[in-house]
Amino acid sequence: MTLTQTIAQAGIVGCGGAGFPTHVKVATAADTLLVNAAECEPLLGTDRFLLREHAAEICAAAEAVRAHLGASAAVIVLKESYRAEIAALDAVLPQYPQLRRHTLTSFYPAGDEQTLVYEVTGRSVPPGGLPGAVGCIVSNAATLYAVWQALQGRAFTQKYVTINGAVRSPCILKVPIGTPLADCLEAAGGASVRDYTVVSGGPMMGKVLSADAAASACVTKTTSGFLLVPTQTRLVQNAVLSEPQTVRRARAACIQCTFCTQLCPRNLIGHPLAPHAIMRKIGGGNWRARLASDPTLQSAALCCECGICELYACPMQLQPRKVNALIKAELRTQGIRPPAFALEEVRPMREYRRVPTGRVAARAGVEIFSGYVPTRFVSLTPHRVCIALNSHIGVSAQPIVAVGERVALGQCIARPPADKLGAAYHASMDGTVTDVGEHITIER
Ligand code: SF4
Ligand code: SF4
Repeated sequence: MTLTQTIAQAGIVGCGGAGFPTHVKVATAADTLLVNAAECEPLLGTDRFLLREHAAEICAAAEAVRAHLGASAAVIVLKESYRAEIAALDAVLPQYPQLRRHTLTSFYPAGDEQTLVYEVTGRSVPPGGLPGAVGCIVSNAATLYAVWQALQGRAFTQKYVTINGAVRSPCILKVPIGTPLADCLEAAGGASVRDYTVVSGGPMMGKVLSADAAASACVTKTTSGFLLVPTQTRLVQNAVLSEPQTVRRARAACIQCTFCTQLCPRNLIGHPLAPHAIMRKIGGGNWRARLASDPTLQSAALCCECGICELYACPMQLQPRKVNALIKAELRTQGIRPPAFALEEVRPMREYRRVPTGRVAARAGVEIFSGYVPTRFVSLTPHRVCIALNSHIGVSAQPIVAVGERVALGQCIARPPADKLGAAYHASMDGTVTDVGEHITIER
């Protein structure tokens, strides 16, 4: 079996957030594999933990993927402040002549795929393109750990997640995919404040969950962590603004200072994304009717939604990122494909406009938690798992089990439709199937 088949059979998708099926990614030609262990979001520590505890496995998987790609090098990228992780890596790297490490300063968003490619190789990915366009494949450290497990014959059924913020005992959890959020919070000692909101992911790019969404949330293939943050925190207040409020505020209060554009990491590597110009356009009224003919509005498609513009740069506390997300959704609704934007020069001030991670955490309102990355480790065994069948890019997987059926850990329970982009799903524990739909529920 080829590595591509092994990865496809194990159902591995990118653990860094987007959930792109890994077997499709490793089928792309590339001369450099970049292993992303920079984990730029404040408060998250999953990749750091994996690198510290499983450097040998991650390096073995990186070498296997590098050889499969025919790439001349694999580079493991982490931050220079990760001393224990660098030591763990340096103990293993001499076994692999074509693997090396690259350290970055602590800035946000160091882990953004396209920023990472530029930092390590000096190549700018074309606007709207993928790293493969400049000969690179980027894979997250957790994804490579899953590849190593697949090479040992194990399906992708477990996740390592960070539980941090306003909880009594922050920790790194090892859990079966589908574990309910409530079980994760219990393992972290519960909330330490009364009025909190749950964020799935990091404070900058994570998804702020409504109370209903939090009540039913479970760990998926792409969950990197859950944070509890006080509801008055700025990142929560931004997230709950409605579309009319967001657009009205852009129209009424944007002073066109251009700070959002000056600090935008995609603009800094030469992409023609200027959030201040988009804010001016969206304030002009009836933007949906103008979308098909306005390339400035369409350039919102280049936004990676890192949140620098709205949580760090904007002196008026406006929401350029949210505006871009609205436009991107509308582009999909109207079926508009943005034009091929031309790559511009890397901005000469880029080096001085990288934003320190600590200051990002302060502006997002989570500074009091950001000094602490959990080291406490808990392996959790829930009574019930609820496995979402669409936690990846592509079409949902189709169930191949029925209610009442007994399943065993690692058994395939859903497959992607033939010839469609997708991923297979496996039982993450032994048990009985009690529900089948968009999720499959298994009870022990
Ligand atoms: S969220 Fe803002 S800063 Fe980040 S890429 Fe998008 S426009 Fe640029
Ligand atoms: S930083 Fe804020 S006020 Fe300044 S141009 Fe951007 S959105 Fe407008």
